[in-house]
Amino acid sequence: MDFEPISELPLTASNLDRATAKRRDPIWLEGLKDDPTTRFIATKDGNAFYRNGEQNALLFFTLDEVKSAGISSAESIFLGMSDTSPFFSLNLTDDNTEDGIANFGEFIDLRKSAPLLSPLEGEIATLVKAIHHWRENHIFCGRCGAPNLPHEGGNILKCSDEECGRLHFPRTDAAVIVVVEWGDKCLLGRQRQWPNRMFSCLAGFVDPGETIENTVRREVLEETGVKVGEVRYMASQPWPFPASLMLGFRAKALSDEINIDPEEIDEARWFSRGEIKEAFLRGDLTLPGRISISRWLLEGWFNEGEEGELSAIEATKKR
Ligand SMILES: [Zn+2]
Repeated sequence: MDFEPISELPLTASNLDRATAKRRDPIWLEGLKDDPTTRFIATKDGNAFYRNGEQNALLFFTLDEVKSAGISSAESIFLGMSDTSPFFSLNLTDDNTEDGIANFGEFIDLRKSAPLLSPLEGEIATLVKAIHHWRENHIFCGRCGAPNLPHEGGNILKCSDEECGRLHFPRTDAAVIVVVEWGDKCLLGRQRQWPNRMFSCLAGFVDPGETIENTVRREVLEETGVKVGEVRYMASQPWPFPASLMLGFRAKALSDEINIDPEEIDEARWFSRGEIKEAFLRGDLTLPGRISISRWLLEGWFNEGEEGELSAIEATKKR
């Protein structure tokens, strides 16, 4: 089986040194905040703050700018370091004034901003979104119920009860997503809550005690009744909406008879590349967004055929 990935997958860069060892030193961390090369990213409800203008670029504040904007008291999380700068996020709440920064730009959801970000910006915006959601949902210790406190720069939480003192690490929910093939066709499904005419790869969360290969087989069988044989892991993508790590696969079906579980999905169909191209150009088929691993997997499969490149077909449609 010859599966070739075709292009860079968004939100998967690794330009940030998370400084796992150094961040254990609180004196080093405090010193970093006064470092003139340090940059601060303002966030609210997990959304980062972007500069006004044609290009939505993350706005990196200096310490002086943070102070004069009146947001230096917001809770900070140490994100890591690039070649040139350490980065902290400043999480604004309703207690903080936004007046000092309001003229510069706005808070934007990552789903909207992602296609326009550089790899480093995408990595930072993904990290702050994921950490924020986890912190918001782990205010209290799950063992003893005492409040949790930030630890090691904020990407660990520690129970404030001295006897308990349990460390809590960020939660990431593993989920598989798969292009299933039968001959020259692939299996796509749609969920009821999706926009009209949208089809995408099948996906589902990994159960405790389950291998990810078996999750692929179980999810496809549960949702569509299709048995899957060979599965191959392709790539992963952090997907902080709110807390997933998507594990992308391609797989070979052992049969093509579809028998959907209406509790799980609305519809599932086999599509040839030609059918996808025609339906897509007619406007009868909506595909997953360009930043998603679902689209990346689908493009990888589609572009191996004789119908051209999916992105080029999309470009002709927009013209
Ligand atoms: Zn505790």
